[in-house]
Amino acid sequence: MKIQQGKSVYKGIAIGKISIYQNGQQVVKRRHVDDVEAEIKRFEDARDLAVEQLGNLYEKALTEVGEANAAIFEVHQMMLEDLDYEESIINIIRNQELNAEYAVASTGENFSEMFASMDDDYMKGRAADVKDVSERLVRVLSGVGEERLGTDEPVIIVADDLAPSETIQLDKSKVLAFITRHGSVNSHTAILARMMNIPALIGVDFEQDWDGALAVVDGFQGTVYVEPTKEVLEEKRRIQEEEKEKERLLQNLKGEENITLDGRKINLFANIGNVSDLGAVLQNDAGGIGLFRSEFLYLERDTYPTEEEQFQVYKRVAETMGGKKVIIRTLDIGADKQADYFNLDKEENPALGYRAIRICLDRTDIFKTQLRAIYRASMFGTISIMFPMIISVEEVRRIKEIIQEVKDELKQAQVPYKDVEIGIMIETPAAAMISDLLAKEVDFFSVGTNDLTQYTLAIDRQNPKLDHLYEPDHPAIMRMLKMIADNGHKGGCWVGICGELAANLELTEEFLKMGYDELSVSPTFILPLRQKVRESKALIDA
Ligand code: PEP
Ligand code: MG
Repeated sequence: MKIQQGKSVYKGIAIGKISIYQNGQQVVKRRHVDDVEAEIKRFEDARDLAVEQLGNLYEKALTEVGEANAAIFEVHQMMLEDLDYEESIINIIRNQELNAEYAVASTGENFSEMFASMDDDYMKGRAADVKDVSERLVRVLSGVGEERLGTDEPVIIVADDLAPSETIQLDKSKVLAFITRHGSVNSHTAILARMMNIPALIGVDFEQDWDGALAVVDGFQGTVYVEPTKEVLEEKRRIQEEEKEKERLLQNLKGEENITLDGRKINLFANIGNVSDLGAVLQNDAGGIGLFRSEFLYLERDTYPTEEEQFQVYKRVAETMGGKKVIIRTLDIGADKQADYFNLDKEENPALGYRAIRICLDRTDIFKTQLRAIYRASMFGTISIMFPMIISVEEVRRIKEIIQEVKDELKQAQVPYKDVEIGIMIETPAAAMISDLLAKEVDFFSVGTNDLTQYTLAIDRQNPKLDHLYEPDHPAIMRMLKMIADNGHKGGCWVGICGELAANLELTEEFLKMGYDELSVSPTFILPLRQKVRESKALIDA
């Protein structure tokens, strides 16, 4: 057994095999193709090769595990040759002029979802198979060899580092834990691990020969055990069971109010980055979406998402939430969230650079496309919009002018939309200091404590060397939080917190006393936070 210590960024126990992640692996990029007929031929050749591979596997399995067990490879061959499956792939390549890998991956997703929603148990079980054959086909297309870890086995991902654009594209059902050599406690990968409710460690000095080994990740202690002894395995399994039991108990709070002992109600909303997070939002009974990080839509691809594509996503989120509030944050790209196709210049200080609203107010075509998609989706639920990285009243006024232009254009084109609440993130010291003036311009504030801490304490949130100084409950931040809440309320705004600090149960009572109306956290924090609110007092004792 090898024991390696790192720093935990999210709790939990994971037990499984390690897969060392090479950057770029498992990511299917969407690419425009000029010669669609050649691309279709490429797909057909790859399909024939995959069918041949499966034939070989069938023969091998027949001698090793018998006919009944080998039959699955025949089923997979049939799926690859299914006419509807083939037609969908060819349509995507031909009509949308897209690459075969993308066409196969999205057809696989669609067919898998279709099977999963069927009543018949046998058909439901085919969802994993269609995904599996599609992945095989993508591997053949990308020239990647056979997978070493077998078919659908979930794994512990170990990597030097993971960019948000890579993490977002991993098949989450196959990830048990994240371990990275680099990365910081406040990076977006850490935030995603919290969102996925799986343990994550950073600063782990791993070795290449860990690949494929059985391991235990202990996110409570920040330790990884490679090839653990029987005693360690048993002990960690016991803790894992205890944790599951605690989670089961919290389920009793579903449907209960977020109300303090002295009768104050508060909204507990969820932070999401993608439609795939919606399952966790519903499961944990969030009262709404307090932060939809829309930039992840831009990060998981290599061309700008069109208005129609964005509209479909926002509409789906609004409809799924069934009238509950959905706060969409407009594009917050830049700094650690990079998409190559934006062609952003390399900067000395990207966190202080050309990012978020600064890009949107400069490249208004991108901004207006997103706003039009959001306004169109407003017809399908209760949507609010908020803007990141604000530093001045002028920015907010300019945003409102652009919104007016978008609304006028929609009206002229007779496209229906609703008026929606407009809010801003308070995540720069400038915005906090002029929050009295900003409150007159908008309907709500949502405090982004992750960036507010970075800018107030002058601590790069991406720099692991400074993690020990990154103190989101520093007195400077706590004073600002009080000031923001007071100024917001005086100006007629409701006020919330959507940075990671909102989930700190030791501060819940303090936030309630400051008067915060909403806390928005990763879905898995909703029920523990509800429990805490129900044990707290909101009024300051006399
Ligand atoms: C924040 O800065 O606190 C925030 C919620 O936004 P992000 O973490 O996406 O920068
Ligand atoms: Mg931020």
